Amino acid sequence: MSARGFRGGIHPPDCKDLTRDKAIEILALPEKVVIPLRQHIGAPAEALVEVGALVKKGQVIGQAKGFVSAPVHSSLSGKVKKIANYPHPSGPEMLAVEIESDGEDAWVEGLTEERDIEKLTVQKIKDKITAAGIVGLGGAAFPTHVKLAPPEDRKIETVILNGAECEPYLTADHRLMVEEADAIIEGLQVLMRVLGVTKGYVGIEDNKPESLTSMMRAAAGTPIEVVSLHVKYPQGAEKQLIKAINNKEVPPGGLPMDVGVVVQNVGTAYAVYEAVKYGRPLIERITTVTGHGIKEPKNLKVRIGTATQEVIDACGGFNDEMGRLIYGGPMMGIGHYNLDVPIVKGTSGILVMRADEIRERESQPCIRCGRCSSVCPMYLEPSAMGIFSERDRFDDAEKYNVMDCIECGCCSFVCPSDRPLVHLFRYAKSEIVKKRKKEVN
Ligand code: SF4
Ligand code: SF4
Repeated sequence: MSARGFRGGIHPPDCKDLTRDKAIEILALPEKVVIPLRQHIGAPAEALVEVGALVKKGQVIGQAKGFVSAPVHSSLSGKVKKIANYPHPSGPEMLAVEIESDGEDAWVEGLTEERDIEKLTVQKIKDKITAAGIVGLGGAAFPTHVKLAPPEDRKIETVILNGAECEPYLTADHRLMVEEADAIIEGLQVLMRVLGVTKGYVGIEDNKPESLTSMMRAAAGTPIEVVSLHVKYPQGAEKQLIKAINNKEVPPGGLPMDVGVVVQNVGTAYAVYEAVKYGRPLIERITTVTGHGIKEPKNLKVRIGTATQEVIDACGGFNDEMGRLIYGGPMMGIGHYNLDVPIVKGTSGILVMRADEIRERESQPCIRCGRCSSVCPMYLEPSAMGIFSERDRFDDAEKYNVMDCIECGCCSFVCPSDRPLVHLFRYAKSEIVKKRKKEVN
């Protein structure tokens, strides 16, 4: 075992001490949940229930619409009160199903039975993963079954589990690896079997010695290697993880499958285990609730659809100097001010910062210092891309490969001129996508 890494990246303070040693607590059953039909990349699910319907925990309430989509399930038993647009962590309001709990928390029949995984065929396993609505739990929320169905001309040789959790503050994956290592390793073996792969890896940054120890113990005697990685942001980004573990470079515009690799998050492997072993759909997840703006930071197991307010209350509420609330970590998370926003499948954390921790400085012109290029893990030229994006010169931004930007925020982090680089790249990317769609139609 040796610590490995990749070129570029930054070293922000990891700030994980607030919750690193906090065991996962189960949040009390909420009185109601609001479950968005879009919680994944791809087409939103389509509502399968009507207002007034009685539903059980684990029941499908939204069916996947197309291959790149995922079903959504009720996270409690109760009555459908409303189907309407509700606040969503990604920003704009989205269609969601509001369910009022009946207090019984009753499962749909048959979901709690234990199964012998060895006896299941690969197709049966794939069906279970698809039906469980599993998506990438690291935050990207890409439907897992899609990654498990690569085109025939792409031979997958390796599955890598991402346990890097390189975003500062977040410890949800760390605690899961400490507390559920055996299930995660079993989930990885299921993924390997589905893809016909004989070698698996788990990449963990070396600031998580407890995770490394528990995962190595669980992986002993299996064809899975647990790899210790240098602490460097964004170590958990797929392409950087592959470079660090396999020393392979995913080509610009390419996907991990182009170099024979599938990457999944450790939480996703755990969800796969739960789905295949017990038939349980993805109705809850571990979320780190942290930051100096919160009274009692915790790692919580939360039902999908629980309101942020309930999660914050379970952590003692805000400190007086609360300044900003972010879904996810400080580097890639999205700020929000509406406490009705529900926890979704991709909510890895809620970060609450104090007012005095927020640095609001006006953006200045680029001084061509070159710091952004030196830290960009995608070998891009953020300075030029920023200038083109700002001037609506999207063709030029595209020529400089803005579409390859993984929005990690390293460039913004080091920029002495406080240029809003990631915002500019998101803007340029959305304009380029719009233009491409127009050209197709
Ligand atoms: S770090 Fe900022 S100021 Fe320096 S070159 Fe990049 S965009 Fe310009
Ligand atoms: S240009 Fe994109 S990939 Fe490169 S550092 Fe900036 S945000 Fe990250």
